[in-house]
Amino acid sequence: MAEERRKEFKELILIVEDNLHNRQIFHDVLVHRGFEVIEAEDGEEALEQVRRRRPDLILMDLSLPLKDGWTATKEIKEMDGFAQIPIIALTAHAMAGDEDRAIEAGCDGYLSKPISPKKVVEEVEKRLSLT
Ligand code: MN
Repeated sequence: MAEERRKEFKELILIVEDNLHNRQIFHDVLVHRGFEVIEAEDGEEALEQVRRRRPDLILMDLSLPLKDGWTATKEIKEMDGFAQIPIIALTAHAMAGDEDRAIEAGCDGYLSKPISPKKVVEEVEKRLSLT
C-alpha cells in the first residue's frame, strides 16, 4: 500500500459512519489510495448523498442514527438504477447475526470491526475489480 494509485478517473466512495474517528481513518486511507471520498453521518444523509452523487461504492456502518444501515441499504437497492452500486457493511464484531442481516438487506459483503485500513482498501479494490 506504499504507492498511491495515480490515474485520471477517481472512483467515488461514500463512507456512511456515525463514528467520527472511524470515518476519518477510512477517509484518509482511501484518499491516499487515490479515491474521491464523500461522507454521511446517518442513514438519511446516506440516501441524500447517494441520490446527489451516485457513488461507485458504499461503505455502510449498520448502527446509525435516524435510519440504520440495514434500512438504508434496502432502500438504495430498491432505487431505480442504483441497485448495482456495491455496498460493503461495516459490522460490529460482537453482534452475532449482523453479517447475515447485512447480506439479507442487500449488502454485497461485510467487514467486521475492528477494521484495519489495509482491509478497507483491499475490499474496496476487490469490489471495484481494480485488483
Ligand atoms: Mn455506528
